[in-house]
Amino acid sequence: MKLYYDSDADLNLLKGKKIAILGYGSQGHAHALNLKDSGMDVVVGLNAGNPDIEKAEKAGLTVQLNDEAAKAADIIMMLVPDQIQSAVYENDIKSNLQAGNVLAFAHGFNIHYNQIVPPKDIDVIMIAPKSPGHLVRRQYEAGQGVPNIIAVYQDASGKAKDIALAYSKGIGGTRAGVIETTFKEETETDLFGEQAVLCGGVTELIRAGFETLVGAGYQPEIAYFECLHEMKLIVDLIYEGGLSRMYYSVSDTAEYGGLAKGPKIIGKESREAMKKLLEDIQTGEFATEWILENKANGPKFNALRRLLQNSQIEQVGAKLRGMMSWIKK
Ligand code: NAP
Ligand code: MG
Repeated sequence: MKLYYDSDADLNLLKGKKIAILGYGSQGHAHALNLKDSGMDVVVGLNAGNPDIEKAEKAGLTVQLNDEAAKAADIIMMLVPDQIQSAVYENDIKSNLQAGNVLAFAHGFNIHYNQIVPPKDIDVIMIAPKSPGHLVRRQYEAGQGVPNIIAVYQDASGKAKDIALAYSKGIGGTRAGVIETTFKEETETDLFGEQAVLCGGVTELIRAGFETLVGAGYQPEIAYFECLHEMKLIVDLIYEGGLSRMYYSVSDTAEYGGLAKGPKIIGKESREAMKKLLEDIQTGEFATEWILENKANGPKFNALRRLLQNSQIEQVGAKLRGMMSWIKK
């Protein structure tokens, strides 16, 4: 695997080009401000009436409506929520694209699953920081950066990869290191990771553990501490030094119990379920479900959110966190 650093990237490729950052949320504010501080010509694109217009202007950025920004720009970075990117593309970008322009993304979903089908005469690239936007900004201001992954979907100019590397340098990514991937790999692994492990697997594991203890008659408050609250302490250790570091820090009883009993919980059945999940991602089954869910105004999505909010673990947690003055509201 090759890593790219500052010396592999040339900011001159972006000089004299206007970069439109569409959206000013988590990623948008970080990309716009970092690129501006790197000396680039940046405009923020937003929809009329968006409260972020004032925020971006206060930060010293030029703001235009999406279509004006797209028209003025040579490089357009799509940082509006993934579910509305195809509508923004159709309404504001498509008719304002010119041959030689660059269309950039921080996540591959809409390109990989054909929700946006760009013309052949432009470059289509991805620059995805592997962290939330606020850390992208904070690290840049501290003279550092967070690792980025980049990808090229279409290379009309013959320079698409170098442009992606230059952009990454502009937001601080090459300070930390850049890895090349493809739209397919980024999209499929990202969806799999969030569903199987980060946002789906972990939360269900916490809920199942909590409900097992409460169902056996133990106090919900004690179950909350054991199955949810302590998760952060464990994850921090894993983040700092890997699984072994975590096992080194916990008691021998916890280490033996974890190593010996964990595979009984995430066993053959869970691994089979993971394979099925991955298959649904690879075949576009999940993408179709999510796109239709959004077209239908999110009936299942809203019901799932409501069910979670009303669940016992969330109610108990809200009460207990009130006792912990150091946890930010
Ligand atoms: P976000 O925080 O939800 O921000 C989206 C921004 O777009 C907000 O400023 C939003 O304004 C604005 N917006 C909404 N509708 C718009 C419209 N019609 N026209 C223009 N702007 C509009 O999104 P995000 O998390 O930064 O995600 C942006 C992209 O980065 C996605 O592709 C995502 O997958 C990718 N990404 C995110 C992360 C992450 O950690 N967050 C990491 C890597 C990649 P309002 O708030 O007023 O709606
Ligand atoms: Mg967000």
